[in-house]
Amino acid sequence: MSKSSLLILPGDGIGPEVMVEVRKIIDWFGSNRGLDFDVTEDLVGGAAYDAHGTPLHDETMTKALNVDAVLLGAVGGPKYDNLDFSLKPERGLLRLRKEMDLYSNLRPAQCFDALADFSSLKTEVVAGLDIMIVRELTSGIYFGEPRGIITEGNERVGINTQRYTESEIERVARSAFELAKRRGNKVCSMEKANVMESGVLWRQTVDKIHQADYSDVELSHMYADAGAMQLCRWPKQFDVIVTDNLFGDILSDTAAMLTGSLGMLPSASLGAPMENGRPKALYEPVHGSAPDIAGQGKANPIACILSFAMALRYSFDEGVEADRLEQSIESVLSKGARTHDLLGVEGVTPLSTSEMGDAIVEALTDSM
Ligand code: NAD
Repeated sequence: MSKSSLLILPGDGIGPEVMVEVRKIIDWFGSNRGLDFDVTEDLVGGAAYDAHGTPLHDETMTKALNVDAVLLGAVGGPKYDNLDFSLKPERGLLRLRKEMDLYSNLRPAQCFDALADFSSLKTEVVAGLDIMIVRELTSGIYFGEPRGIITEGNERVGINTQRYTESEIERVARSAFELAKRRGNKVCSMEKANVMESGVLWRQTVDKIHQADYSDVELSHMYADAGAMQLCRWPKQFDVIVTDNLFGDILSDTAAMLTGSLGMLPSASLGAPMENGRPKALYEPVHGSAPDIAGQGKANPIACILSFAMALRYSFDEGVEADRLEQSIESVLSKGARTHDLLGVEGVTPLSTSEMGDAIVEALTDSM
C-alpha cells in the first residue's frame, strides 16, 4: 500500500469538467489497486482570481511545493482577457512552473491505433507511434539577456539572446537519459551546432554526460531543422528527443499533431528530485480551457487522464498501472467510443465527457 500526495488544480473552463473524470479514475485505483492517494484540491487561474484576487494564492503555491505531484486542468477564459498582465490566469501557471523550477518538459506523441486515421500523415507512419520530446523549459532564448527592442540610428532592433549554462544543459540531458532507460533506451539530442555556439556547448555537454553516466543508452545528434523533417518523414525512428526551449516548443507541437486531437495530449513538467527522490512534478493536458465548449459536456477528458497516467509512471513509479490505464483508453477507443473532437465517421454518436470517463473506468475494471 502506498500513500502519495497529489494536489489537484482544476482551473477554468473545461478544466473542472475533465478533472471530475480524473477523480473517477483516481478513486478506481484507490478501491481496486491499493493506490491510496492523499488528494487535496485547490484553485488556480481565473477561479483563484475570482476567489482571492490573484491567479495563485501563496497558500496554494506552498501546497504545490510540498506534495509529490500537482495535476492541473487548464486556465484562462475571455472573462479575464482585460485583466492586468500580472493578474491573468496564465500567471498562476507560470508561477507554479517557475517556483517549482520545472526545467524538463515532457511531451509524449503517442498514437493510439484506433485514431491513426486522425493524423495528417499516412496511417503506417503514425500507427503505434510512441515518442517523447524533452524540452528544456526554464532557460534559453525566452529568458536570455540582453533582450528588448532598441533604436539604432533611424530604425528599431528587436533583440533576444540564446544562453545556456553547462549545468542547465546537464540537468535536462540527465532527465532525458533517465527517461530513455524506462523506455526504448535511445536519446536523440537536437540543436543547431552548425551555426550556434550555444548548440556546440549543448552537444559537447550532452556527450560528456553520456560518456560519464549513460553510455548504455544509445545517443545520436541531429540538427533541429533536420529533426523537424525526420519527425514528419519517419517519426518512429525516435524514442526520446532532448532539445532546448525554442526548438522544443516547435518540435513538440509538430510531434503532437502527428497524433490527431488536442483532446488527447498530456504533458509533464519535472524539476529536481525532492528529498524522497521523486522529482518535483506538474502534470497537465496540453489543451487550454476551451471556452467555446465549456459547460456543454463536450470536452474530451483523455488528455487529462493521460496526464494522470504520466504521474503514475514518473512520480509514483507505478508503470504497470500507467500501462493498464493507457491500455484501457486504447480499448475504449478501439470499440469506437468517441468524444466530439474525435468525430469524423458519419453515424457515430459522441460520448459526453462523463460518459467517456465512465467507459474508461469500465475498461479498467475489465482489465482486472
Ligand atoms: P484551447 O486548447 O482551449 O482550445 C482550442 C480548440 O480545441 C477549441 O476549439 C477547443 O474547443 C478544442 N479543445 C481543446 N481541448 C479540448 C478537449 N479536451 N476536448 C475537446 N476539444 C478541445 O486553446 P485556445 O482556444 O487558444 O485558448 C482558450 C483559453 O485557454 C485561453 O484563455 C488560453 O489562454 C488558455 N490556454 C490555457 C492553457 C493551459 O492552461 N495550459 C493552454 C493553452 C491555452
